[in-house]
Amino acid sequence: MLKSSNIGYPRIGENREWKRTLERYWTGQVNEEQFLQDMKQIRLSHLRKQKELGIELIPVGDFSYYDHVLDTAVMFNLIPSRFKQEDETISLSKYFEIARGSDGKVAAEMTKWFNTNYHYIVPELQNAEPKLTHNRLLELYNEAKVNLGINGKPVIVGPITLLSCSKGFTETNREKLLQSLIPLYIEVFNELKDAGAEWIQIDEPILVRDKETNIVAELQHVYHEFHKHVKGINLIIQTYFDSTEYYNELIQLPVKGIGLDFVHDDGENLQQLLNSDFPQDKILFAGIIDGRNIWKTKLLNKYQLVQELLTVVDSCRLFLQPSCSLLHVPVTVNNEEKLDLQVKEALAFADEKLNEITLLSRVLNEEEPFSTIETYDVAVDTIAKSSVRNVEHVQNAIINLNQYSTSRIEAAERKKLHAKRWKLPILPTTTIGSFPQTKEIRKQRLRWRKGEITNHQYETFIQNEIKKWIKIQEDLNLDVLVHGEFERTDMVEFFGEKFEGVAITEFGWVQSYGSRCVKPPIIFGDVYCKENMTVKETVYAQSLTKKPVKGMLTGPVTIINWSFVRDDLPFADVLNQVALTIRKEVEALEQSGISMIQVDEAALREGLPLKQKKKDLYLNSAVYAFKLATSSVQDNTQIHTHMCYSNFDDIIHAIDALDADVISIETSRSHGELIASFEEHHYQKGIGLGVYDIHSPRVPTLEELIQNIERALEALDYRAFWVNPDCGLKTRGESETIAALKVMVEAAHLYRSKL
Ligand code: GLN
Ligand code: ZN
Repeated sequence: MLKSSNIGYPRIGENREWKRTLERYWTGQVNEEQFLQDMKQIRLSHLRKQKELGIELIPVGDFSYYDHVLDTAVMFNLIPSRFKQEDETISLSKYFEIARGSDGKVAAEMTKWFNTNYHYIVPELQNAEPKLTHNRLLELYNEAKVNLGINGKPVIVGPITLLSCSKGFTETNREKLLQSLIPLYIEVFNELKDAGAEWIQIDEPILVRDKETNIVAELQHVYHEFHKHVKGINLIIQTYFDSTEYYNELIQLPVKGIGLDFVHDDGENLQQLLNSDFPQDKILFAGIIDGRNIWKTKLLNKYQLVQELLTVVDSCRLFLQPSCSLLHVPVTVNNEEKLDLQVKEALAFADEKLNEITLLSRVLNEEEPFSTIETYDVAVDTIAKSSVRNVEHVQNAIINLNQYSTSRIEAAERKKLHAKRWKLPILPTTTIGSFPQTKEIRKQRLRWRKGEITNHQYETFIQNEIKKWIKIQEDLNLDVLVHGEFERTDMVEFFGEKFEGVAITEFGWVQSYGSRCVKPPIIFGDVYCKENMTVKETVYAQSLTKKPVKGMLTGPVTIINWSFVRDDLPFADVLNQVALTIRKEVEALEQSGISMIQVDEAALREGLPLKQKKKDLYLNSAVYAFKLATSSVQDNTQIHTHMCYSNFDDIIHAIDALDADVISIETSRSHGELIASFEEHHYQKGIGLGVYDIHSPRVPTLEELIQNIERALEALDYRAFWVNPDCGLKTRGESETIAALKVMVEAAHLYRSKL
């Protein structure tokens, strides 16, 4: 008999009750006691649900008040020095201070968890004094047992992954830190064993990255130590997000369970498994249901996959589970009432995925007839055959992609034409696109959505906002203006709503960081657009001023990376469908007289694969799609792009290859390093390195801005330099925005007069 297991469950709840509970506590509406009580109810309800769905091995400890990496760090006393106080246990408020900052103390850095859109809190290990502050897992294990009779599977971030995701130490220190962490993990495990736990899941996703010899050594050392000192409880090393590069080492380790991802591995884990003698004493935890995407699984395919696995392991040594924690998908499709039925029928969020696992297990264990699978798979086949996935003109366009130009004349030649066309001053000033989305704007949008005001009334309202801000920008004497994006809730959702083949859910939220959740659009069919999407607002803005107004679009790569994407087509095909849709809009803008068009690729780097060997393919497709979207314009039209903060070192070639005339980049959080990457690369095209941080309401001083410009110009040619803030201003207040832009323009003017 094979069994079912889960790796992790979403925290946020069906109606984001987790988020609301957190925010009620942060704003002081409930006290700590009430908060803990409310959270416990949420946590237990999630465990209960998994039990009812028939999952046999249910994770505990995956739940968090903020982030599971922070939980692990705090459990081991790995907190940033600035938050340390003598002899203090780490209180709940301290926990949140580390995550969110507090008076005068900057929050810990947050960064993306592998290649997901989930952000974790980066442990800072300068002056780390590892010790066990409390056995969090023991508390949660006991809670599940006492309240629900669940013998849960405690889940913990493994020591190697924990260190690899931390910062603030040298290689020599790494060894010491690891040494001091091992006994702490052992203590946690032994206490769990004494309490009756049978399994522990140790997450080591670091093992899917490119292989490193020191990790091999660590792996062997750590897990032999665990084996030596922890008896009577089964350890599982859990990997996910890709195939493991350490397969041969893994199967020789003295652990009971090996967890592998059979969905995002490009077939490599399966090959490794089939080519090896999987040890008879080990249990395979097979991730067979996609934990990253939201489509119903074709169970017949998984049935066949399991048959292959069974040629290597007996069914009594096999657990079926999702490919990774379900943290990365929404909770349930049940509450979606506005979705097209055909789309809804094809979806599986966390609960539905767990149902797939138990259903498949029952069929494989012959507790249910095989026909259950056939019945289940009808929905998947129905959407595959449906007209939404078979739009002829879209598919023809993809087959005939080479009929679309993807290159422009030399950038240097374009630059001359652009200089002649606009005669912009040196160090031209601009912004990234959005202006403050005030309460009033949100209120009017809501009224319009509810039908309380007419389309016409809403449009007039938006026009008035545009008018107000064109005037503000002219008064500020900015050189290149924007319309302000008042009509957009979100840069991806806005386009998702306009595209054919894309659905927006009501409750399809996933945690991005802390209490912040995002609701990715769902690309379910062939993508195209029947009408213009941005022309009206842009043209209106341009009609109010003689200065150029930049058209503002979201790029194909960003749309894809921030959406759930259909999985029946190659990634590049969906990407190019979106690119062609944006291309059409670029053309429409240009034909309406808009001559600077910004195509934001905020999330270009986010989709970068974990393994080196896959990176080029991704970057090539990304660059191609961007060029497909932007290359049809006249030589004297200027294409801009914008990217949010990320590490640009390994993608600078790709950024250059986008061939955008001007790029604006968020830099204030890592000025020096970023400038260096562009300098080393001899970047020649127009570039605006954000000169002030938009994440805080603080108005920068003139000196700071001059300094930032000066530093950038030491490395970059002043004739290519643009002056702009770091990112869009939609989250800022109006008065601080105007004040900051005023200083920015002043700084540019001052600097100009010096050159
Ligand atoms: N144009 C968008 C804005 O200004 C860009 C946002 C982003 O980069 N995240 O809001
Ligand atoms: Zn940005």
